[in-house]
Amino acid sequence: MAEFAAAVKKNKWPEKISATLIGSCTNSSYQDMDRCADLVKQAKEAGLKCTVPFLVTPGSEQIRATIARDGQIDTFEAAGATVLANACGPCIGQWDRQDVPMGTPNSIVTSYNRNFSKRNDGNPATHCFVTSPELTTMMAIAGSLSFNPMTDSLKTPSGGEFRFKPPFGNELPKSFDAGENTFQAPPKDGSSVQVVVSPTSDRLQLLSPFNKWDGKDIRARVLIKAKGKCTTDHISMAGPWLKYRGHLDNISNNMLIGAVNAENEKVNSVFNALDGSYGAVPDVARAYKAKGIKWVVVGDENYGEGSSREHAALEPRHLGGVAIIVKSFARIHETNLKKQGMLPLTFTNPADYDQIGSRDEVEIVGLSSFAPGKQLTLRVHKADGKTVDLKVNHTFNEGQIAWFKAGSALNGMAEGAKRS
Ligand code: SF4
Repeated sequence: MAEFAAAVKKNKWPEKISATLIGSCTNSSYQDMDRCADLVKQAKEAGLKCTVPFLVTPGSEQIRATIARDGQIDTFEAAGATVLANACGPCIGQWDRQDVPMGTPNSIVTSYNRNFSKRNDGNPATHCFVTSPELTTMMAIAGSLSFNPMTDSLKTPSGGEFRFKPPFGNELPKSFDAGENTFQAPPKDGSSVQVVVSPTSDRLQLLSPFNKWDGKDIRARVLIKAKGKCTTDHISMAGPWLKYRGHLDNISNNMLIGAVNAENEKVNSVFNALDGSYGAVPDVARAYKAKGIKWVVVGDENYGEGSSREHAALEPRHLGGVAIIVKSFARIHETNLKKQGMLPLTFTNPADYDQIGSRDEVEIVGLSSFAPGKQLTLRVHKADGKTVDLKVNHTFNEGQIAWFKAGSALNGMAEGAKRS
């Protein structure tokens, strides 16, 4: 903690905390909540309350109902906390933050498990510090990044000194309250059920099945060669975009808009081979799709790390992407791509990343004998007419190859249901 306080000063991070947040799916067990409530009680007994906004997101309906019954929610609210719905909430950017204008440097402390830039409130100037729920709670009372609960005390309203004691929380409640049951059982025979979606809705859209593989090797343009970290937030940004999660075409307008183009080091600016201009990534992808031109993404290490956001795989597929070729993948994203009928491929030699340019075309050769453990060839057609053959690996098993051939896992399942 002492080193952290020194780093705050050295880096000129805003010392005054603007918000503290605990909960979401991570660090939100009964014990976490009970220990945090214990800290809040200690402070309350000394006459102290939260000095900065303290947002609590219960991890599930069961936790919400149980801590409502057992009093922890009352304890938090009495200290000035706001208890949010039991959902991802600000962890995924569902935070309509009004108190800090966009672009204003500020520090928040959370016990969520992600801290990418703009992740929680969409503000690139927000510094997000991730720590335990207990430390976050103490920071909600202290309000300063420099506060060290091991050594520092807080002034009480009566002029005394208050120091936190180690928190205690029950590991489990006496019993869990399952909470509100919102499950609606489907009808036994669903054959006459119609899902009606307004064609003018900009929030909801029925999914159309993706096209099946046509049985041929694939030739495609490089849409973007992404440089450095490319998380699912770079591929499909959260925040205000989340309202379009039910509308694939609309949310696809955020596809890769956060990724850095290795060619010009810019975000959301890629070469359009149709007219030689530079455009936004989704716009160029749509232009290619309209002309029937397939495209691929080239990426760096650990491509697709972050929340397992299905849209980060659905969007490239929807806009005409066929393969993502990278040095290495985050495992869940790699599987998500397979489910949507995309080809996640890795360079056998990671240095081959340097052999592909942003203006090249590639051919994926060997798909007619696509098999588990068998490498494919990536034939790179350079802008100057030369070609380079690179070996690429994949991790498809037989079942996943069937998804690719069917166009997606859903297509494959639908085909299976028809056969049975
Ligand atoms: S966004 Fe991901 S990490 Fe955050 S609460 Fe939701 S599921 Fe958990």
